[in-house]
Amino acid sequence: MEYVLETRNLEKKYKKFKALKNVNMHLPKGAIYGLIGKNGAGKTTLIRLICGLQKVTNGSYTIFGILNNSKKINMARKRIGAIIEQPSICLDMNAKDNLIEQCKIIGLPLNNDIKEILKTVGLDDVGKKKATNFSLGMKQRLGLAIALVGHPDFIILDEPINGLDPEGIIEIRELIIKLNQEKGITFLISSHYLDELAKIATHYGFIDNGEIIKEISNEELIKNCRKRTEIRVSDVKECVKYLEQEKISYEVISEEQINIYDDINISEFVVSLSNRNCTIIEFKEKEETLENYYINLIGGEGNV
Ligand code: ATP
Repeated sequence: MEYVLETRNLEKKYKKFKALKNVNMHLPKGAIYGLIGKNGAGKTTLIRLICGLQKVTNGSYTIFGILNNSKKINMARKRIGAIIEQPSICLDMNAKDNLIEQCKIIGLPLNNDIKEILKTVGLDDVGKKKATNFSLGMKQRLGLAIALVGHPDFIILDEPINGLDPEGIIEIRELIIKLNQEKGITFLISSHYLDELAKIATHYGFIDNGEIIKEISNEELIKNCRKRTEIRVSDVKECVKYLEQEKISYEVISEEQINIYDDINISEFVVSLSNRNCTIIEFKEKEETLENYYINLIGGEGNV
C-alpha cells in the first residue's frame, strides 16, 4: 500500500503534558481519511506537526515517503494544501485577489488557473464582493481555493464544517468528493462529527487522549456496524455446510463463532443444526450505529 502520510510513534509534549502519544497513522494514497476525536483529543496538534508548524518531540513521520527530518521534507510539504483552524483569507479582498495574493506568497506565476480554481469551488460568479461579506460556507470554499493554488496532491482540513449551515456542509462535502474523484487528491479531514464524515470518508483514524486508538477502512466499519446474528456453535464445519446449502450470507469469525448477515428462520435453523449434531451455544442479534461504534471505542458516552 502506498501511503501519502505515515507516522511512527509520534509524540508531542507541551512541557510535561503529552498531547500526542505514540501515534501510528497510515493514510493511503487517494483516501479521504477522517481523523475523528472529541475536543482536545490532539487532532490540531497532529496536523500542525505534519504541516511543519510545530516540532516533533519524539518519533517520526513521512510525507510521500520523505522522512520528516530529511532535507527534502519541504519539497514534500509543497504538495500539501492545508486549512488549519481558520482559512487564511484576506477579508478586504475579493475571491480572485485572494488567489492572486496566494500565487505571490508561494511564488507561482499568475495564470489562467485562477479562473479554473474559482469555478471548481463555485466562486466564479461572486465578482468584486469582498470576502468579509461572504457566508461562512463561501469563506470555507475560498479557503479551499487558496489551498488549491499550489496544485496539491494532498489536502488537510481541520474541522472544515464547524459553524456551517446544512447547505454549507453539503457544498463542502460535494467539493471534497469532486476533488478526490476528479483530481485524485488525498484528504485528511479532522472532525468530531462522525456521522458527517461517514458520508465521504474511505478510511478513519479514531484519536482519543493523544492516541490513535483505531484505524479502520470504511468497508470494515460498515461490516462492523452491519446488522448480523452472532452465533457460537459446537461444530462450525457442519454449520457452514448448512449455511452454504441454504445460500445464507455468513462469515466465520473463529473456531466457534459465525456471523450471519441474512434473516433466518430461527426454529428451522435450530432444528436443522440439531439434525447435524451441531449445538448452538450462544445466539445474539446485533446492529451498531456509527455513533455507538465510536462511543464503545472511546469507552462510554460520558467520554464523548
Ligand atoms: P479541538 O477539536 O478542540 O480543536 P483537538 O483535538 O484539535 O481539539 P488539540 O488542539 O490538538 O486538540 O489539543 C490537544 C491537547 O493539547 C489539549 O489538551 C490542548 O489543551 C493541548 N494543547 C494544544 N496546544 C497547546 C499548547 N500550545 N500548549 C499547551 N497545551 C496545548
